[in-house]
Amino acid sequence: MPPPSTFPCPACGEDVPAKAKACPHCGACDKSGWNEEASGTDGLDLPGEDFDYEKFKEEEFGQPQKLRGKKLFWWWATVLLVIVLALLTLSNFFLR
Ligand SMILES: [Zn+2]
Repeated sequence: MPPPSTFPCPACGEDVPAKAKACPHCGACDKSGWNEEASGTDGLDLPGEDFDYEKFKEEEFGQPQKLRGKKLFWWWATVLLVIVLALLTLSNFFLR
């Protein structure tokens, strides 16, 4: 049996000539690791952003035990800032 003259493109699944250095259908090539580079980077970048956003939402609205330390810090930081500002404002009033 002769070796296949084409192989399926890992990026788009179309037949690519075995000697081709880039997929004629989607533009993927050896240098790009046969990724879908020709169609933009949305295949790699967007899921990361979506995942981060979901994670952020999860930390913000769910699983209170996980975010307790980090959120508690900012809560106290905010309270402390408000107290300091209030004291400064009050002292300004009294000193005048
Ligand atoms: Zn392809």
